[in-house]
Amino acid sequence: MQDEVLILGGGVAGCAASIALARNGRGVRLIEREPEPRHKVCGEFLSGEALEDLHALGIDVASLGAVPIDYVRLAAARRAAEAPLPFPAASLTRKALDTALIAEAIAAGVRVERGRSVQLLSRTTSNIWQATLDDGTICEAPTVFLATGKHDLRGHARPKDPDRWVAFKTYFRLAPAQADELARASELMLYPGGYGGIQPVQGGIANLCCVVQQRYLARLSFRWENFLAKMQRDCPHLAMRLAGAEPLLDKPIAITHIPYGYVRRTSENGLYCIGDQAAVIPSFTGDGISIALHTARCAVAAYLASEPAPLFQARLRSALLPQMRLAEFAADGLNNSLARAVLPFCLSVWPGVMRVTAKLTRVAQPAVAAPHAVAS
Ligand SMILES: Cc1cc2nc3c(=O)[nH]c(=O)nc-3n(C[C@H](O)[C@H](O)[C@H](O)COP(=O)(O)OP(=O)(O)OC[C@H]3O[C@@H](n4cnc5c(N)ncnc54)[C@H](O)[C@@H]3O)c2cc1C
Repeated sequence: MQDEVLILGGGVAGCAASIALARNGRGVRLIEREPEPRHKVCGEFLSGEALEDLHALGIDVASLGAVPIDYVRLAAARRAAEAPLPFPAASLTRKALDTALIAEAIAAGVRVERGRSVQLLSRTTSNIWQATLDDGTICEAPTVFLATGKHDLRGHARPKDPDRWVAFKTYFRLAPAQADELARASELMLYPGGYGGIQPVQGGIANLCCVVQQRYLARLSFRWENFLAKMQRDCPHLAMRLAGAEPLLDKPIAITHIPYGYVRRTSENGLYCIGDQAAVIPSFTGDGISIALHTARCAVAAYLASEPAPLFQARLRSALLPQMRLAEFAADGLNNSLARAVLPFCLSVWPGVMRVTAKLTRVAQPAVAAPHAVAS
């Protein structure tokens, strides 16, 4: 079967691109390996840019139960300090967001095929892309948008993650007093080997999402219980938040191989790489979803303007690099013992530093937009 455009992966980037293409009258097939949206490892923070892009796609996060986030609080060792966020933000479970995006794609006329996994992506001598699915079906199209997120397809892998990050996410129902204190805040916690965040999502539930380098986890016998206890010892603020909390998942969901700082250099003709397949920003910025939406929008604009994929990819890279390098620099800064000792103190005397960092690590909306065409 041949389509005009084939989109591989129905997460944030894949759905956003498919909606924009279908609204521009293009015939789009989207292949998503999960039969239903499910929990994903993610802090579930939606930045101002993400909210704008979602709104443009017709997604009303408030009606999905999103919680507004106005403050960021930084906790390390025995100190915590807070600052107002310099942009509107919200928190929403990925399950709710992905469900809404898939529904919007179907409503826009995208042929969505769920529960089908792409095993191989190759190109014929006549420059047609072929995606081989798990049941042996071959889907063909002259143009493919690669949006498989953290999962690499054979032959299209991103580099290894030298720090071997491991990420976890789970949900807690907090004790009422702690839920009240956390309300409308996203809390970033620093500890040796990584950092984590806790923030309210809908229905009085809090998301705890954290990353740690594998060598630190090895010292804890790779056990979540040991890691959770260690985080609370290193960061008493987290212990306070979790006192009397009820865990809501049997065990956290986890992922490995997160090549933070990766920005794709180029691509092949007819292959537009978007979302985490284009760039992976350190998680503490809470900007990955925004970048996924943004890269999808730019790739659609480039495709509609007949800009070759290799040119688009190289231009996207130049536009994203400054933000990515700054975010990496800030993430490295957070991950040392001096920073853990002094940062909350610095923030308490100069709350503006958090606002400046938050602003500088945002995706630069106008600068990265494709110059030739704008998708509706
Ligand atoms: C620990 C952590 C915390 C984070 N916290 C935040 C945050 O708070 N805010 C924020 O903005 N960003 C955050 N991010 C980043 C954000 O989650 C990602 O950048 C974003 O989800 C990327 O979107 P995507 O569409 O590229 O990938 P995804 O949303 O992951 O979608 C990829 C889709 O492709 C599908 N797929 C994969 N392989 C195949 C295959 N072979 N065939 C068919 N389908 C396939 C998957 O099932 C999935 O649905 C965080 C990331 C991490 C690791």
